[in-house]
Amino acid sequence: MRSSSSSSTTPAKASPQALADLAVQAQTCTVCAAHLPHAPRPVLRVSPTARLLIVGQAPGRRVHETGIPWNDPSGDQLRLWLGMTREQFYDVSRIAIVPTGLCYPGTVKSSDLPPRPECAPLWHPPLRAAMPDIRLTLLIGAYAQAYYLGKRRGRTLADTVAAWRDVAPEYVPLPHPSPRNRLWFKRHPWFEAEVVPMLRERVGAALAAGDNGGARNPS
Ligand code: SF4
Repeated sequence: MRSSSSSSTTPAKASPQALADLAVQAQTCTVCAAHLPHAPRPVLRVSPTARLLIVGQAPGRRVHETGIPWNDPSGDQLRLWLGMTREQFYDVSRIAIVPTGLCYPGTVKSSDLPPRPECAPLWHPPLRAAMPDIRLTLLIGAYAQAYYLGKRRGRTLADTVAAWRDVAPEYVPLPHPSPRNRLWFKRHPWFEAEVVPMLRERVGAALAAGDNGGARNPS
């Protein structure tokens, strides 16, 4: 059963109620249920006042079980990059979290499957349109970058991240903060040295009053 139609997924205007209605529609979506390993459990956090949008890949198993996005070691690493506590990170009045695929897509040989291809075209345009205060969008991992940047992506993920100026000021492309990517971080030391400080600065500017909500530098 589809929980949405093309008319119901397009907000008439960017109002808090339009976003609330959309969020309910997204949270009850079953469009690709036949392709998922479990009953759909869309995981997203949106608010009409959010200024930062975080777009990741798709929920992993732990996030699927808890319903809390980035509630895993990848989320811990992301918060370290951002210099945020969990409380700051989960302040939905300031930070929206919408993955490329809203539901856990399952795993193959212990690797997460890609986000379902139906999901981002269905939910991102209307949700994004209903959050007019978003100043900065973090594109975390290749799937988010493919959807939002298309041909503006580099040849590799490292190329895309290194060329962050090409997609500023709207986006910051980032690698996935998964502990599995340790080797990537080791091979690309410029990321932690140059991109992470830029990320904190730009997130701080996107959030209120020139800081990132009182976020502290954990280092
Ligand atoms: S992955 Fe996306 S399209 Fe598929 S059921 Fe979940 S919310 Fe709907």
